[in-house]
Amino acid sequence: MQNIVIVGASLAGTRAAETLRSSGFTGAITMVGAEAHMPYDRPPLSKNYLAGDWDEERVALRKPEALEELNLTWKLGVAASGLDTAAKTLTLANGETLTYDGLIIATGGDVRRLPNQPDIAGIHTLRTLADATALRDEITEGARVVVIGAGFIGLEAAATAKKRGADVTVLEGLEAPLIRAMGAETGAAIGAVHERNGVVVRCDVQVASIDGDSRVKSVTLSNGDVIPADVVIVGIGVSPATTWLEKSGLTLRDGVVCNANLCAGPETVFVAGDVLRWPNALFADVEADMRVEHWTNAAEQGAHAATNLLAALNSTEQTPYSAVPFFWSDQFDARIQCLGRPSANAVVDVVAGNPADGKWCAMYSVKNRLTAVLGVSQPKLVMPSRALLSTHTSREDALAHFVRVTAPPPPPPAA
Ligand code: FAD
Ligand code: NAP
Repeated sequence: MQNIVIVGASLAGTRAAETLRSSGFTGAITMVGAEAHMPYDRPPLSKNYLAGDWDEERVALRKPEALEELNLTWKLGVAASGLDTAAKTLTLANGETLTYDGLIIATGGDVRRLPNQPDIAGIHTLRTLADATALRDEITEGARVVVIGAGFIGLEAAATAKKRGADVTVLEGLEAPLIRAMGAETGAAIGAVHERNGVVVRCDVQVASIDGDSRVKSVTLSNGDVIPADVVIVGIGVSPATTWLEKSGLTLRDGVVCNANLCAGPETVFVAGDVLRWPNALFADVEADMRVEHWTNAAEQGAHAATNLLAALNSTEQTPYSAVPFFWSDQFDARIQCLGRPSANAVVDVVAGNPADGKWCAMYSVKNRLTAVLGVSQPKLVMPSRALLSTHTSREDALAHFVRVTAPPPPPPAA
């Protein structure tokens, strides 16, 4: 009987297990997860769960019966600590060794910490259910919440905290929020949504220290400003969770480097989700390889890695994973949706609405070809542009498309 091990009881890992079973794999599947929880969904952790509107049961990725049906062996609360691909063995932090015929790595990302971040009460990161529970309990009406980092975590948590009545300040090192994710102009427009809702957004500032004895009291900026704080949220990005693979011989470069089929090199080792770096054929002309840190990508890649692993085990044909990445983010009443790869170095054209008004759509081009479409509360413009993004549409043709689809309807014929 063949034996597959999945490392990371995550979104990508769960989708991989489901795909293995739905494809008819009847061998053993072991799911190894560093967290003690059964798989849960992360997007609500900065939104409905943090707001106190959803409980733990609602955050579960699948109902217990559905997971039961998959007939997996669970090793939870124990991290994988080493991999020997020649011997096909995996070492766990508790000293156990697992052998495998096929392996799927879906270990996601580890939160970054500030270099001088003290270990005192009131300072939070937000990646896990445990993080979200601890933070939720401290976001109370009137609490002074200082968010370091105006990325997705920082802004979503800021919006939720503000809606719960906290007094929220966001600190960002660059000149606008979300610059690396979506560029300066559009990032600033998202920052403006926060300001309209009463969040203080301070860009171009450097944090010098987070201060307090046993509990946080304030954040000091490099210009000497002191911002009083009851709660600090550090949302300064994640690093792919690859420390445990350092001696494995797999190629690690800001993620596990794989081929187009999501194979890491050894023929039955596949990778999916936030931890994966792979060449996405649809964007090969603008990015040699990419890593995507969003939900839809992890879900799709988990399924794809599983399908290709079965093909490898059965010596049948594998297929490349090429896709137009997608993400959404909810901040106050702004529903951001984005297809493609927005970037700070792209030419940005606003093709509908006006960023100052809170409902707009922008397209991004690199090397004169469309690379992303991002909209705020504009689903009818964003979602249908997938075809444009998967066919290397030039900037001019994309602009013409948006002129066409945003043109006002012709007046009704005169009676
Ligand atoms: P993860 O979800 O990171 O799971 C990896 C798992 O592997 C973890 O449970 C980890 O503990 C475990 N692990 C790590 N190392 C080891 C090891 N050595 N051994 C065993 N287990 C290990 N995306 C969107 O598109 N829209 C959103 O609105 C959105 N909101 C988000 C809100 C929050 C608060 C967060 C944190 C993320 C959000 N995301 C969102 C991003 C999305 O959730 C991630 O892209 C997705 O969870 C990645 O899934 P994954 O399976 O690759 O990894
Ligand atoms: P992120 O989106 O990478 O943003 C990190 C932010 O912190 C950036 O704006 C970054 O600016 C800033 N920063 C870095 N170092 C800083 C410092 N020393 N002081 C102040 N600001 C600093 O990461 P994240 O927001 O922490 O989110 C973590 C992960 O969760 C990501 O994978 C993200 O994609 C995912 N997530 C996704 C969603 C979504 O898709 N809706 C929602 C929540 C979380 P610089 O550019 O200057 O580094």
